[in-house]
Order: sequence, then structure tokens, then C-alpha cells
Amino acid sequence: MAINDAVDWSAVLGGGTRVALVQAGTFRSDAGALFGPVPRILWDRLVTDEIDHDHRLLQALNCLMVETPAGRVLIETGIGERVTDKVREMRGYEGTPIVPAMRAAGFDPATVDVVAMSHLHFDHAGGLLLASGEKAFPRARIVAQRSEWQIALDDNARIVASYDQPEIRLVSAWGEESQVEGEVTLLPGVSVVRTGGHSAGHQAIVVRGSGRGARTLAFFGDLGMRPWSANPRWVTAFDDFPLDSVAVKGELFARAAADAWLICLSHEPKTPVGRLTPDRDRYRFQPV
Ligand SMILES: [Zn+2]
Repeated sequence: MAINDAVDWSAVLGGGTRVALVQAGTFRSDAGALFGPVPRILWDRLVTDEIDHDHRLLQALNCLMVETPAGRVLIETGIGERVTDKVREMRGYEGTPIVPAMRAAGFDPATVDVVAMSHLHFDHAGGLLLASGEKAFPRARIVAQRSEWQIALDDNARIVASYDQPEIRLVSAWGEESQVEGEVTLLPGVSVVRTGGHSAGHQAIVVRGSGRGARTLAFFGDLGMRPWSANPRWVTAFDDFPLDSVAVKGELFARAAADAWLICLSHEPKTPVGRLTPDRDRYRFQPV
């Protein structure tokens, strides 16, 4: 069974706003790197079922299609179609890229008004272009923080390894048209807020319904990859600014728990949507 068949989630948030999960395939990441500073004895048993012979975990590429009365927003684009067989093999990348995955879910990529990305790492910004090099979302403006566009083309050796810089260069003029700084409303009910932490210009995306029974959904990008990310101190080795991650996770998660926000995790394959509840000095992710 394809992973797209396994997770078919959507929700009405109120006031004509609807959110649907679209998984754009899966890839694999080193388990130790995903748990960063956390001792193996604490995480080993959480991943017994999914760890492979190369000590990697299965990571979904979770994207969200947000439909509002004011327009359509796609959150994240996954790895996309422009990877070589060598990279595909190295990353363990499998499944359906964002454009065909959207079509299979009944969404036309040509109707997307805004593409909002948490950050520009290869597994979030890879789907902006089709295999042919054309824009995958021809009508959309693409939104990331100004500081993220700046760091993505930095010449620091660690940065060069995290971003697919030749691909970023191809979309940088497109991105420049709608760079944002700090907290910005993209459309009524859809806003982004700069978080930093995982990357210099990482941002969270918040979708708010309106009217009676209105609900809010938050996408914390790679500050909320998997259920165990609910502990603010459990940061990945991929976080460039871990102290910032810990602090901002604490703030965002407190808000999400207090207001019962729905949370969509960026890389969780099986139970991507849930809520956070306080648990001693951390939070617990409870799937809905
Ligand atoms: Zn990621």
C-alpha cells in the first residue's frame, strides 16, 4: 500500500477554511542525527519498528493544502522531481512527488496562490520546479523568510551540505518577489512567524478558521518533525541553532497546548496530525 493511501486526513477549520494533508513521498534520515543530543538509551525503543539496516528512520514528506475563501496555500513541497538516481538512492527517496500527489488528491497545482515553506532545505523546497524546470505552481508566490533565502546561498561548508544550492539559485528570483520578515499574514487566516532554530530563517505556519467552532492548525516545520519532537529539549543534530530551537519550541508548544491547536508534524509517516498536551516539563503529542 502506498503511503498516500495510509494517510488521508482533512479537516474543516471554520469560516470556509479547509486543510488537507498531502504526503509527497518518503525518505530516510540517520536515526542518531534525528535525535541529536538525546542519548540512544532514551530513544532506541521508540523506533524499533522503523529503523533500517543502515540505522535510518522513515521520514514522510508531509505537505498541507489549505483552502480559504481568499485563496489556496500549499505548505511545503517535499523533495520533488529533480533528483538524480544517485541522490534518490542515497536519500532513500520513494513515493509520489508533490505535483502528482496533489493531483491524486484532487488538487490542481495551477490553482495554488501561495506556497509557504518552513525553510529551504532540500526536503522542503525541492518541489518548486517540475522535472522540466518549469514552475510547478505557475500562479503562486513562494514565501520564505528573507533570512532563510540569505543563509541558503551562504558559502559555509555546513550550509552548502544542507541546501541544494544549484536548485535554490534557479528559484531565488521567484522567491525574492515575496520574501517576508518576522510575522506576516499571507492571506486572511494564514500567517507565518519566524522561529529560527532549525535553520537561520525557519518559520512556522499558522492557519486559523473563523466563526462558530473555529479551529487553528499549526505547522511547526522541522521544529515538530515527529511525535517525540514534543519535548522542547529533543532537538535534531540538523538544527543549526539548537538553543534557539529549545527556547522557541517551548514558547510555541505552550501556546499550541493552551489553545488546543491541531498540529501537523513535518516528517511523521503514520500519525502526522494531533494535539500537544503538557506533560511535566515537556509536552506530549496525541494523535487525533
Ligand atoms: Zn525536513
